[in-house]
Formats: sequence, C-alpha cells, structure tokens
Amino acid sequence: MRIRYLPDTLINQIAAGEVVERPAAAVKEMVENSIDAGASRIEVSIEDGGKSLIVVRDDGSGMDREELTACLDRHATSKLPGDDLLNITHLGFRGEALASIAAVARVKIASRAQGGEAWEIACEGGRKAEPVPSSHPKGTQIEVRDLFYATPARLKFLKSERAEYLAVKDMVSRLAMAHPEAGFKLAHGGKTVFNLPPAMALKERLAALMVPEFQDDAMEITAEREGVTLSGYAGLPTLHRGTAQHQYLFVNGRPVRDKLLTGCVRAAYMDVMARDRHPLVALFLEVPPEEVDVNVHPAKAEVRFRDAAMIRSLIISALKNAIHTGGFQTARSVSGGALDTIGRNLAAANAPSYSHSPAGPALPLHRGGGAAVPASYARGSHQLAEAAYSVYEPQLDMGASIQPSARAEEPVPEQAAQEAEHYPLGAARAQIHENYIIAQTEKGLVIVDQHAAHERLVYEKFKAQLADSGIEKQGLLTPEIIEMEEAASMALLDHTEKLSELGLEIEPFGAGTLAVNAIPALLGEKPNVQRLVRDLADELLNSDNEQDSGALERRLNELLSTMACHGSIRSGRWMRADEMNALLRQMEATPLSGQCNHGRPTYIELSLNDIEKLFGRK
Ligand code: ADP
Ligand code: MG
Repeated sequence: MRIRYLPDTLINQIAAGEVVERPAAAVKEMVENSIDAGASRIEVSIEDGGKSLIVVRDDGSGMDREELTACLDRHATSKLPGDDLLNITHLGFRGEALASIAAVARVKIASRAQGGEAWEIACEGGRKAEPVPSSHPKGTQIEVRDLFYATPARLKFLKSERAEYLAVKDMVSRLAMAHPEAGFKLAHGGKTVFNLPPAMALKERLAALMVPEFQDDAMEITAEREGVTLSGYAGLPTLHRGTAQHQYLFVNGRPVRDKLLTGCVRAAYMDVMARDRHPLVALFLEVPPEEVDVNVHPAKAEVRFRDAAMIRSLIISALKNAIHTGGFQTARSVSGGALDTIGRNLAAANAPSYSHSPAGPALPLHRGGGAAVPASYARGSHQLAEAAYSVYEPQLDMGASIQPSARAEEPVPEQAAQEAEHYPLGAARAQIHENYIIAQTEKGLVIVDQHAAHERLVYEKFKAQLADSGIEKQGLLTPEIIEMEEAASMALLDHTEKLSELGLEIEPFGAGTLAVNAIPALLGEKPNVQRLVRDLADELLNSDNEQDSGALERRLNELLSTMACHGSIRSGRWMRADEMNALLRQMEATPLSGQCNHGRPTYIELSLNDIEKLFGRK
C-alpha cells in the first residue's frame, strides 16, 4: 500500500463529522457568520428538524462574487487579517464551517455586498458551480438541503425530527440571548417559533426565551474579581422548574455548556430550594482571553478556565449575595398568579347564571348570623365565598370568632396594631384555616403561611447555632427507645457524630433499636421524636449513594431542614395575636424569609391597588 494525499472533498467530509455533527451545529456556524457580518436581523427556518432543509438569512455585510467562491473553500476566512490567533475579534476564524457543510449537503448561497451586485453559488457534495447573477437584496441567504446526504454513515446518527428541532431551538435561543442587539426569528415547518425584534433589553430577551415570569422574578447579578466580570440575571428562589434546562452560561459572548455552572447554581440555591427543583439563570462571564480556552472543541461548546476554582467561587458568591438581598422579597408573579386566580373566580362567580338551584352548595354560615352574601357567590364559587367569608368575619367580630376558645384572650390593642402596620409584614389581624395569618400593612394585606414561615425561621436559627457554638441540646429525662429497620438504624449510627453536632444524641440499643438521649433544644416542648428520627434515617438512606463533593454539605442541610420542619408550628395550630405578630417581626429580621427551604413562598402580598382592581374600582 502506498501513502497518498486525500482529496479535498474527502478531507472536508471527514471534518464535517466534527464541525457540523448535526443540524443544530450547522445552524450555529451559519448564525455566527451572520453575527460576524454585523447583521441586525437573522432569520432561521428549518424543515424536518433541519435534516431536510436549513435556511439562514441575514441583512449583514454580504459577499461579492469573489468572496462567494472563496467562502466555500477550506481554511478561507476573512476574520484573521493579522494572522494572530491571540487577537480574535469574531466568532469564527477557522474558515472551515462552510467548506465542511458544503461537502456533505446541497448548499446554495445568495449574497449582495453593500453597493455591489447580487450573486448566487451552488455546491453539491463539495462540487462547486460557477456563481451566477441573482436578485438578492443586501445580505446573505444560505440554504442547506439534505445535510449528510453525501455521507450516509453519518446520516444514520441523526435523531428524530423532534430531537433535532429541539437542539436547533436551544442553539438559536442561546445565540439570541448572547446577542440581544440583533433580531432573531426561528421557524420550523413553516410555523414561527419566536420572532424577537432587534435592540431588546437583555432581561426582556431572556424572559422571552425562558419563561415570561423571568421578567419580574429575576435578580440582576454583577460581580468582578481579578479582571473577570460576571453579569446577568438569576431567578428568585420561588421561580423554579423540574429540570436544569434554563441555566445558561456565556463566556466572552459565546454560549457554552459547562458542568461548572450546574454545580455553582446548586451550591448557591441549596438552602432555598428542594433538591429536585432547579432555578433559572443566565450568566455572562467576561474573561481575559489568556484565562480561558473556548475552543477546546470546535463544535462542543466546552470551555477550559485557567483558574476554575476562582470562577466557581465568583459565581457562587454573586448568586448567594443576590439571593440574600433579594430573599426578603416575595415573587411578584406569585402574587400576580394569586390575583389572576381570584380574578377568574370572581368573573365566573359574577357571570349571570340562569339555573339558580336552591340546593346549591351551602355557604359556611356566620356563627352569629349576619351579612348576606350575594346570591351569585353561592353558585360555582363555593371556595371563593368561603375565602371571602373567612377574611371578613374576624373584622365583624374580632377575636372571638377566630376560635371559640379565644374569647378569653386579650385582643390586640388598636394602637399597637396601628403601629405594627408600619412594618413590612404589617399587623396580624386574623388567622384563618388554622394556617394562614392575615396581616394588614400600610399599603395592603399580607397572607402568611405560618408553617412555611416558621420552618424557615427555625432553619435559619439552626444554621446560626451550628456556625456559632453548635446546636443547643436538650436532654431527655428518659431516653426514647425507637425500633426500626436495621438498615435505617445503621445509617443513623454511622453518622452518630454528625448527628450529635446537630443536637441529636443517639446510641445503639440492640439490633434495629436506638436510644435517643438528647434532641435539639429548638424543637420545643413536645416534638415527635419517633417521626423525626425516622425521617432523618430516610434522608440518610436516600442520600448515602451520592459521592460528589457537595453531597456532605447538602446532606447536612437536608438534615437541618428535616429538623426545622419538625420544630416548626404545624399548620392547623391556632396562634394568639401576639404570637402571630412575633412571627411576622422575626420573619422581617431573618434572611431569606421570603421562601421556605423548599422554595415555596412563605407569604404573598396584595396591595390595596390590586384589591381595588379586583373590585373594579380601578
Ligand atoms: P469562518 O467563519 O471561520 O471565517 P466560515 O466557513 O464559517 O469560516 O466562513 C467563511 C467566510 O465566509 C467568512 O470568513 C466570511 O468572510 C464569509 N461568510 C460566511 N457567511 C457569511 C455571511 N452570512 N455574511 C457575510 N460573509 C459570510
Ligand atoms: Mg464561521
């Protein structure tokens, strides 16, 4: 056998497998070319997930006849005028994308440079035709049909239409986030997926591509360290999804995919979100070129940082900072959602109904008899009526009506109540359904979920004690003996020392049996020790097979959170007015009290303005 030089077409076909890989990668290369050409509008339309057709059209600088022929050649680029690899000012520079795509597909390019003639060129499986005159307006349109038709082996690796389409959509979304200055349109099978105008504000662009709530419920992130700057937006802890899909990282303007971000986000939100929920973030790093290698692989958007630990700590601390300052803030969309629901119910309740039946759902009656409820409320909106009733009743008969046993309690002195209204969470006026505190503020009302709120407070206290002198214990007069499955008791005994730090003293007491000698003092007078210990065992069994470095800290937090849940006021427990007010004041003084440790809001706020809207006064 003799060594020979491979023909160009073959070289390009081999390169295509790496450079374009799948339709989404071809789209990325072409859209980046449009951005490099200074386009202010970029339109991508695909058929069949991009497998049969990709068209990318832009209003950028365009190409003349000569450039149109050259752009299809390998290693032909206009973007490295000084032959200086360290001075890269464009997204492209290798000059191999178009050559690779044209080697494996049927490509047609039409283009016109400013003030020049329009030309069109075709290329099939690497065979270029001569350019012919065309009528294209300024800018460029590239049509790619039957990607990989020339390399059937490669073609087999393409996934379903849906999978390829989703990859294209994700790619164009990321590029559109990185370039809010340009307009982006994406269409699939003739249907518009999104159409974003040029010159959008970043936050607006992100919300349009992620979820609309991001507009209201995201915090701005800015930080800087050793010449690296971080900017972008991160969702409030009350905004979360079941997958980490909406977590985006951009390095020097390029979308990248890096596990680094997932880890950072997890660490930063650990305290405020359940483990199976994921926050929404879009972060932009500007890093001096010598600190990062973005081109580890031309198609895979990986990055390599010289000092990854520094970058990680920069991201985590910036996110944590924002969560702590934004923590005492209830998600606006949560209140908005509540308003929408009430509004819809009201509309339904007030809609004329011609089938009034006397046997409609019974209204909860006032104990003392009293205000008539409009008949229309009685139909179809039982829950609303009940809610309305519960809100009004205490005002009709303050104190006594909350619970019969409350009659002996002193009502809150009116003056004290008025003073308390100046606090952000206001003055507690009533408790309803033994779980919701209704407080009056200067500008409206606040509804607090007492269990969620208290759980947060206990959790924060546990953390403070742990950081300070260790969690305070309270010895049990007689040890509590608990029988459980052997695996569960072993899991607990394996962590005797850690549990002791957390305030729980246990010792073995025969197979599958434990003795509990002390519990955290914060758990109060009559905690259900059996339940607590079983929950902790479950927690340990569940997390035992996690080995990554954050697992230990995460587990500690999970344990604390389980204990906090046990140590907090149950829903269903009646509270005195002074207890409720004390809870509100503690919430105001506690970081992150806007959500419980599972990311659910602890309170929602309705302004008088909102309430007036509901009543059609505004
Ligand atoms: P690279 O982007 O690395 O230079 P490509 O193969 O992607 O390599 O493109 C080759 C050349 O074709 C570019 O350098 C550019 O001059 C030209 N080109 C490609 N697409 C466009 C476009 N949409 N508008 C103007 N010029 C383009
Ligand atoms: Mg390019």
